[in-house]
Amino acid sequence: AQAFKTILVTGANKGIGFHAARLLSEKLPSTTILLGSRSISNAESALQKLRSSSTNQYTNLIPIQLDVSDAQSVDRAAKDVETKYGSLDVLLNNAGIANDNPKEVFEVNLFGVKRTIEAFEPLLKKVSDPRIVVVSSEVGKGGLDLMTPDLQSTFTNIDSLTWSTISDLAEDYLSSSPTRKWPNPAQTYGSYGVSKTFVSAWSRLYAKQHPEIRLAVVCPGYCQTDLAPQGVRSAEAGGKSVIFPVLEDKWEQGGFYRDAEPLKYIS
Ligand code: NDP
Repeated sequence: AQAFKTILVTGANKGIGFHAARLLSEKLPSTTILLGSRSISNAESALQKLRSSSTNQYTNLIPIQLDVSDAQSVDRAAKDVETKYGSLDVLLNNAGIANDNPKEVFEVNLFGVKRTIEAFEPLLKKVSDPRIVVVSSEVGKGGLDLMTPDLQSTFTNIDSLTWSTISDLAEDYLSSSPTRKWPNPAQTYGSYGVSKTFVSAWSRLYAKQHPEIRLAVVCPGYCQTDLAPQGVRSAEAGGKSVIFPVLEDKWEQGGFYRDAEPLKYIS
């Protein structure tokens, strides 16, 4: 882990992503940690606030504009990283939203993660120990448990899962008249919980298809942030939980972890 040159954290201007980036900056002082933020000025002010409250100047934290729901922004960020740094060692996909617009939620939490990983894949493939971390949630497992048995096996049977199946299911879930039985949104935090079921399944599929890139799915735990004001742990504790696969080497390809402990994904 000490040899990493460049790490990118998405959604790093606040909440869990900001603490993840800050902790990585402290633990890996010679690694450049890119603070992905859809508003660069929000990342700059968060950084300024951090610097003014500490003797550590966090000189290895660098803001970068990145809106995961915007293909142009993602491609521009990938080009930018390639020009300035040549490659990427770690991509920490943290950006996520929870609101009452299912299409927006899926655009960030599922399609945004896929788009970002695919855009940075060529840069990751240039290094010797590339890693991807996907911040999902145990809530996604809760969503899975509420699904019909056939849907559950579709999501968990990674050997027969394909992106085409996942995207057809997403289209169905997001259509005005879904054809299959989906969990009641009242039990899955609207579409949020189901978006995390989707992203966990897709991440496990990607991990299987790309054994050359190490990938872990993580849950930060229930943290008090703008996304979860009632959260019971600190955003810093969440940040610590999600950087485990960056700092540690012993974990399983496609595994699901919280606080460095495996979470059983398949019921
Ligand atoms: P916050 O709302 O505090 O932070 C979310 C971050 O994602 C912000 O930086 C936000 O930027 C960014 N973001 C939102 N949309 C986009 C986008 N389109 N492109 C790029 N960045 C975007 O939430 P948390 O810190 O709580 O959440 C971080 C991750 O942790 C999410 O994936 C969430 O689902 C997950 N998680 C959180 C839990 C919790 O209890 N808090 C529990 C389990 C999982 P902006 O400031 O511009 O909105």
